Amino acid sequence: MLVACHDCDLLHHLGVIAEGATARCRRCGGLLRRRRRNGIERTVALALAAAVLFAVANAFPFLSFDMKGQVTQTTLVTGVLDLWRQDMPEIAALVLATSVLAPLLQISLLLYVLLPVHAGRVPWQMARAFRLLRHVQPWSMMEVFLVGILVAVTKLAGMAEVVPGLSLWAFALLIVVLAGAMSSLDPQEVWERLGVRS
Ligand SMILES: [Zn+2]
Repeated sequence: MLVACHDCDLLHHLGVIAEGATARCRRCGGLLRRRRRNGIERTVALALAAAVLFAVANAFPFLSFDMKGQVTQTTLVTGVLDLWRQDMPEIAALVLATSVLAPLLQISLLLYVLLPVHAGRVPWQMARAFRLLRHVQPWSMMEVFLVGILVAVTKLAGMAEVVPGLSLWAFALLIVVLAGAMSSLDPQEVWERLGVRS
């Protein structure tokens, strides 16, 4: 594999790097690649945690509103339906895509690729799954939705008692865990582990 140094542009032929080892530029010592120890296991663990958090975030109420004794609970999906009913189909679709579908697809693809790799098998259409994962990533924007919720909550705080639900905490944690899983995923390392040249 031909790799250019980020610092001085010198080209290197890079072979397979051992776990925990780093490759540095011959001329300036700049970092070319680092192969983390147990990188795949760490990514699997984070992806599994993300799957659990995703389930919790969708199964439990996001927020409860107590307006003079009348309690209304909102989950992610009923929130999307409410937006739809209030004649905001574009926003409903955007929230559904960025806060439910994209993270779900991300988590599914991560597990689809990494669970077989962890067991030493090559998943079917692995290259295509990696490519799809890269395309989905920019669409996963849960943090934008979370900020929107928090803004709405502070505005409503005067009118009703707002109680954050379990799902809200799971959702916030999911953002962090999924970002960690995506950043620790190194497709090159996956190919190397399987002894396949990309
Ligand atoms: Zn260099």
